[in-house]
Amino acid sequence: MSKPLRSEPSVAALQVHAIPTFSDNYVWLLQRGSRAVLVDPGEAPPVQRALDQRGLQLEMILVTHHHGDHVGGIAQLVGGRTIPVPGPQAEAAKIPTLTRLLNDGDVVDLLGTQAEVIAVPGHTLGHIAFHFPAEKLLFCGDTLFSGGCGRLFEGTPAQMLASLSRLAALPEDTAVYCAHEYTQSNLAFARAVEGGNRELADYRARVDACRSAGEPSLPSRIGTERAINPFLRTAQAGIRDAVVAHAGEKLNDQTAIFAALRAWKDGFRPAATP
Ligand code: ZN
Ligand code: FE
Repeated sequence: MSKPLRSEPSVAALQVHAIPTFSDNYVWLLQRGSRAVLVDPGEAPPVQRALDQRGLQLEMILVTHHHGDHVGGIAQLVGGRTIPVPGPQAEAAKIPTLTRLLNDGDVVDLLGTQAEVIAVPGHTLGHIAFHFPAEKLLFCGDTLFSGGCGRLFEGTPAQMLASLSRLAALPEDTAVYCAHEYTQSNLAFARAVEGGNRELADYRARVDACRSAGEPSLPSRIGTERAINPFLRTAQAGIRDAVVAHAGEKLNDQTAIFAALRAWKDGFRPAATP
């Protein structure tokens, strides 16, 4: 009689945890077994605590762009060890902690899987996103937020529109991990732009319940964002009409619509709701 075959030890699943930092940032912690990779650690203490509490070995730090709330904790977390820190080549001069310089289309091997680099200029000129096609995960920094998008500090509206279009074209069940908890204020603006959007109303109720329970609103999904995020919907007639009415002038193309929508959001203060 032969012994029953013992199954191979299964590879631990890839998990993603949110580490809240500052007032509204998330550092994303990717975990496989006892191995960990961080995305955009803007400060070290809460991140180090999360690693210690879970007993994890830090293997790599991914960087999306040069802003201090995304890179400020790197040096302390690395602590003089040889931990790879891949990040955008175009911002290397502003991020001295980088050890590998990435461009669009590059692939990073980590935690037994692969992340593809997508260049998403707009918020900053060298901003990159990390897409995990096998696991359907997207870490998009300050480019795409749930219900919104990053401010245009360095890039043009045309660049940001093109960047968001690339992200929107990913599979609809891709989980979207943004770097800030801005969802509720973004959805207040989205409702002002597109009040008749039923999916937006439903999503808003789910997000409010989530936040009331003290949970992150993230990750979102690409399919959800296509349905509710006005910055991914500037080709829709309803959005166009609302933006033109707000701007009070004729807008000739989708880039002009997008630019006017972004400017509208920049000056938007939600009215107090009963
Ligand atoms: Zn930023
Ligand atoms: Fe940020």
